[in-house]
Amino acid sequence: MTTDIYARLGVRRRINAAGALTRLGGATMAPEVVAAMADAARGSVDIGELQDAASGRIADATGAEAGLVTTGAAAALTLAAAACMARFDPARMAALPHADGFPNRILLPRTHRTGYAHALQAAGAHLVDIGHNDRGTGAGVRGLEAWEIEAALAPDVAAVALSANPATLGDLETAVGVCRARAVPLIVDAAAQLPPRENLRRFTALGADLVAFSGGKALGGPQASGILAGRRDLVASALLQQLDMDVAPQTWTPPRLVDRTLLKGVPHHGIGRGFKAGKEEIVGLLVALERFVGADADMANAQLEARLRAIAAALAGTPGLRATLVPAAVTGRVPVLELAVDDALSLSARLQAGDPPVHLSERHSARGVLTLDPQVLAPEHDMPLAAALRAAVAS
Ligand SMILES: *Cc1c(COP(=O)(O)O)cnc(C)c1O
Repeated sequence: MTTDIYARLGVRRRINAAGALTRLGGATMAPEVVAAMADAARGSVDIGELQDAASGRIADATGAEAGLVTTGAAAALTLAAAACMARFDPARMAALPHADGFPNRILLPRTHRTGYAHALQAAGAHLVDIGHNDRGTGAGVRGLEAWEIEAALAPDVAAVALSANPATLGDLETAVGVCRARAVPLIVDAAAQLPPRENLRRFTALGADLVAFSGGKALGGPQASGILAGRRDLVASALLQQLDMDVAPQTWTPPRLVDRTLLKGVPHHGIGRGFKAGKEEIVGLLVALERFVGADADMANAQLEARLRAIAAALAGTPGLRATLVPAAVTGRVPVLELAVDDALSLSARLQAGDPPVHLSERHSARGVLTLDPQVLAPEHDMPLAAALRAAVAS
């Protein structure tokens, strides 16, 4: 019998030059991470104690007071919303996702509204859209302004939420000013803002109270992992709402992150219980984080650029296809190869239907470009990818 698990299941392996997309399995993990997860799988530990250890390591890596391993950035956003609404009140934790009678609104600028905002609502929060989207629509030059947040800050507001990217750092500073003055927590979705490594610390340093990162994208952790980093009291609330709480109050030993003297009682299973992080995910995420922090990004990018140049050379002269290398210094992330083609989406569909199926990023398809993102691309796939591209363009 074959030892290839995907072959045994009758599932095809794919050539992935689209990036660490969730629907393609996210990141692939380094052998060291896989080994740590296997090691973790073989023992019993107290998950609260393990999350305490995780908190310390995430704090070191992010500069935040505390951290929690979640089952992804979306889960981190749901837990962040739950923490901001329930704080340290077991009755509020027990009520969620019904959040009547306590602050349950989250302000979200229209320029920051993504499909992932659903994760905030999943905790029971009502999203309040603020400001306009002139930048997004190209109608104007102005983005988020402090008075727009101030005008919407009613007593039932539990938090303000933003989505981080290089273009919205100014908004973050604007929001921090207002949120700090009014003691309203600021949640930042930074799921896909790694690399660069500096972003692990950037949003906390700017003043965000809670920051969500994906573990299964560039961090190279387990696909179903993520990080919630931030203020100790809020992370502790998030942790409480994620833990298994089928405990006897007499024998329960809370994680160190949780100050039991502040709790009116022992909470029930919370809103996060359905997306518990397992010992394997927690350990895998921590080892991946350690590798990511310690990696030589310049050397890794130089190696990726050399591979992309070799792929571009193998594509040279293909009619109807022009390859341009965009270095990491320009993307701010990893180098990519932009492939200008005639009909980007129909070529993408042909590549995906091929054998083996090939995936390129469609993020710039509207301008006739398929993007070869090498983050997850296995080196042994470089030349088969070039061959599949040449064949698909000719077909
Ligand atoms: C990928 C992504 C998420 C969700 O992250 P998961 O780790 O897959 O849960 C949330 N927000 C943004 C902006 C993302 O790109």
